[in-house]
Amino acid sequence: MATALEPTTYTLPKIRQTQLLIGGKWQDSVSGKTFATVNPATEEVIAEVAEGDAADIDLAAKAARKAFESGPWATMDARDRGKLMTKLANLLEDNFDELAALESLDNGKPISDARAADLPLVIDCLHYYAGWADKIHGDTIPIRGNHFCYTRREPLGVCGQIIPWNFPMLMAAWKWGPALAAGCTIVMKPAEQTPLTCLRMAEIAMEAGFPPGVINVVPGYGPTAGAALVKHPGVDKIAFTGEHRTAQIIMADAAQTLKRLTFELGGKSPNIVFADADIDAAVAGAEFGLFFNQGQCCCAGSRLFVEESVHDEFVDKMVERANSRVLGNPFDAKTTQGPQVDQAQFDKILGYIEKGKEQGAACVAGGNRFGDKGYFVEPTVFTGVTDDMAIAQEEIFGPVMNILSFKGFDEVVTRANNTCFGLAAAVWTRDVSKAHRIANSVRAGTVWVNCYDVFDAAAPFGGFKMSGIGRECGEAALANYTELKTVTMSLA
Ligand code: ADP
Repeated sequence: MATALEPTTYTLPKIRQTQLLIGGKWQDSVSGKTFATVNPATEEVIAEVAEGDAADIDLAAKAARKAFESGPWATMDARDRGKLMTKLANLLEDNFDELAALESLDNGKPISDARAADLPLVIDCLHYYAGWADKIHGDTIPIRGNHFCYTRREPLGVCGQIIPWNFPMLMAAWKWGPALAAGCTIVMKPAEQTPLTCLRMAEIAMEAGFPPGVINVVPGYGPTAGAALVKHPGVDKIAFTGEHRTAQIIMADAAQTLKRLTFELGGKSPNIVFADADIDAAVAGAEFGLFFNQGQCCCAGSRLFVEESVHDEFVDKMVERANSRVLGNPFDAKTTQGPQVDQAQFDKILGYIEKGKEQGAACVAGGNRFGDKGYFVEPTVFTGVTDDMAIAQEEIFGPVMNILSFKGFDEVVTRANNTCFGLAAAVWTRDVSKAHRIANSVRAGTVWVNCYDVFDAAAPFGGFKMSGIGRECGEAALANYTELKTVTMSLA
């Protein structure tokens, strides 16, 4: 493995925006407070960012209301909204290098991942939803009597959007796309760990020509800015991505105003490898499905079920792959694994590794901090994991793979479903009917067959059970951003 910090092969981006965007104006927070955003690879402060709280959320919610009800956005033709979104997508593409570097700097992800995954998915998402803007419409309905009955799909209103730090730009795009296509306005609170790319995206949206107040961005902390957004009576909906425990708080906080809620939450996704699979492909897919993005994926394949007869072969190959991952400076093109996002995540992951060892799982790769600077954790593989262990039950959100052995189809289905989560699952087999039977039996919002983490703006994504409410991406997400109105007219 490489050492923690090597000379960079990419230039560091300039930090252009650190203020709040409210009603089209960049401004300091009402309190004047700021907070530091830290480079997780070096533990050094990148920039001080304006810290929004309830007073700023109030200003942003009012600006978003004004933009929703009057002015150019409220009266703009749907097709022109789509054109603005296309322009935003094109401008993001024009700034590809800078945005990828900024994402890597603030989040710690390898720049090669930001360039290969985050940026293309962000741009694609906005193009996809730009195409929807003028295709959102109702039905005519043949009701009884001499009536003309039809439905309209109207924009929901002011949308509060609270996003996490693991894919900062992509989470923003997934939420901006359907909201803007539907004609809503937005108050976004990025995660406190990674505010920089969302601010830069908002600056680019202003350049594209979005009217003031359509997109507002208020960085700040969850219990202050986030909670104020959830409780604000002038906000119609909260779209949240993050931990299920935070969603429980949000649901309680939103009860007073009965806000519409959509949640995309965590998981403990089963990745099932049958003995008849292409084992090398399954090993590569399992590595990607768990270690991608430093294991910081809500859909990480964190319960890896391997059929007993191929277990040892699979483990040997997986350990070799885990040990060959390249940790180090995210700006080095060779790096495949960067640091975890912050000290809290780093501590939590090392805590789970200790728990795994204590509870009797065998740590066959990694198991420690990597280097002595930055929040790097070695790619870790546990075998002999049983269903009751903490590492098999709880979301670790780090580079910790848990391998569980199984004997047959029914057993693995029961064990795969034995969780409160249901975000994603995968199966590796050459038997088509077995693949379909798994796809039908596993209670999860997404099932991948002989692949993992295949995302597309057109494919709905979201959770069964405690992994979420509603779907992001695809046509399905538009339902989260519209209200259905029924109009009935007498023809007598
Ligand atoms: P993580 O622990 O991975 O950071 P969280 O669910 O805590 O996940 O954070 C996801 C997002 O939710 C962040 O933007 C965070 O600031 C926000 N958040 C945290 N707590 C609250 C809360 N009580 N109300 C609203 N938003 C919150």
